[in-house]
Amino acid sequence: MLGLTLREVCVALREGHISPKELCHQCLNLIKKTKFINAYITVTEEVALKQAEKAEKRLLKGEPLGPLDGIPVAVKDNFSTANIETTCASQILKGYIPPFNATVVNKLLNQGAVLMGKTNMDEFAMGSGSTDGIFGPVRNPWGYSRQYKEKLIATGQCTEEPDWVITGGSSGGSAAAVAALTCFAALGSDTGGSTRNPAAHCGVVGLKPTYGLVSRHGLIPLVNSMDVPGILTRSVDDAATVLGVLYGHDPKDSTTAEHSFESFSLPDEVNVKNISIGIPKEYHAPGLSAEVLSQWMKAADTFERAGARVVEVSLPHTQHSIVCYHVLCTAEVASNMARFDGLEYGHRSTVDSSTETMYASTRHEGFNDVVRGRILSGNFFLLKQNYDRYFVKAQKVRRLIAEDFIKVFSSGVDVLLTPTTLSDAACYKDFIKEDNRTRSAQEDIFTQSANMAGLPAVSIPVALSARNLPVSLQLIGQRFREEDLLTIAKWFEQQVNFEAIDLQISDNIGTLPKKKTASTA
Ligand code: GLN
Repeated sequence: MLGLTLREVCVALREGHISPKELCHQCLNLIKKTKFINAYITVTEEVALKQAEKAEKRLLKGEPLGPLDGIPVAVKDNFSTANIETTCASQILKGYIPPFNATVVNKLLNQGAVLMGKTNMDEFAMGSGSTDGIFGPVRNPWGYSRQYKEKLIATGQCTEEPDWVITGGSSGGSAAAVAALTCFAALGSDTGGSTRNPAAHCGVVGLKPTYGLVSRHGLIPLVNSMDVPGILTRSVDDAATVLGVLYGHDPKDSTTAEHSFESFSLPDEVNVKNISIGIPKEYHAPGLSAEVLSQWMKAADTFERAGARVVEVSLPHTQHSIVCYHVLCTAEVASNMARFDGLEYGHRSTVDSSTETMYASTRHEGFNDVVRGRILSGNFFLLKQNYDRYFVKAQKVRRLIAEDFIKVFSSGVDVLLTPTTLSDAACYKDFIKEDNRTRSAQEDIFTQSANMAGLPAVSIPVALSARNLPVSLQLIGQRFREEDLLTIAKWFEQQVNFEAIDLQISDNIGTLPKKKTASTA
């Protein structure tokens, strides 16, 4: 049952093939068996069992709430959850128990979803690997798949202690939780790619909705002008289902749009004849691996063969997006992080010779060096003498980046087709050779500009790489046109027919057969 999609398991629940309680137990068991993946910071076993019990009663009475009733879901640990610890994977919020639910969490629960737990991430969502949080790095479930192991054995790289693979980030826990079949959907957040990047590396679907479509109330902010709640699922249809639950104006988030959207369900038969697919030429970026490039070109051919018009387009200012993002992100981080002072939330230093020393030591002890570095850069960009040179200029460049997209879409292009990441997932030991900023600059190259422009984008797994790890592509759509974007994405998903993960879960999971030596070969 756990390998089904959300849609499929919903039918299985309604038809009585499994009960919400059984489903919840199965997921909890799998969470325990896959603990080494480190996808969850907190497993909310008791809450989940109670919610599953209630869902079961509703089902037995014949009054299920909707498409999420009884469905196990997970939530990234930067969404506030009432009475459940919410840490952002940071020392400074350890022990913080919010008194309220984020709007999106309320919406999931009001639809009867069963909360399995809070997922692991980079501290305050600053990163692209899920390697930089206080609870330790998340491991990619694909590194424990039959497919990956077979490749290691075939290439003679199979050692007793294999190098394990990162999930991408910063919502790596959510992506791993969905990929390892421990839940059917998870919430991530996406500021520069944090939902799409780990989705791409973990072989699941990752949707970043239009800015303003889904409430940010209760999502602990990273960059308020770019943050959006993201959705991770095992199919495009499932992402559409969850979006249908989450979207809508929220009086508690003044940036949510009022009348922007109609709810939709995706058609079963999709035709892409005469739609126009744009291929941004600037996305042929240095470092793009040959196999991602070949999947990208193959995808363009697939669309063309089906009657779509594939055209090369230009987004000339995209090349500045990494630098521009750095200035805007750190400036917003500097002001957002000011609230963590040891008085109201989480950690407080015992060094308290004066209030100022207490603030300083709390922040020194509470934040990792990535967060501290961003606060320092951001404050530098915001200094009176630097403000125009950096912050205002970056805002102008952001506008140019957004206008590039507007021009392309107004020339008749329906969606853009791009890679999501430069390559498949790196091994942990290689990934951490670079610092957080360099890694983010590389990893987010194809994803950041959609956040700057507020556009919806979805990552779809397409194939396995030579290392038998997922390779994914991204479709970027027009503002509030999620229905068109996901309809095309669904068609594409049907064409690529991505291989299901064959997780090798046993008591000795994580260990591989011994490498053949000269004497045993
Ligand atoms: N990697 C980017 C950063 O570190 C984006 C993170 C995100 O989307 N939350 O800022």
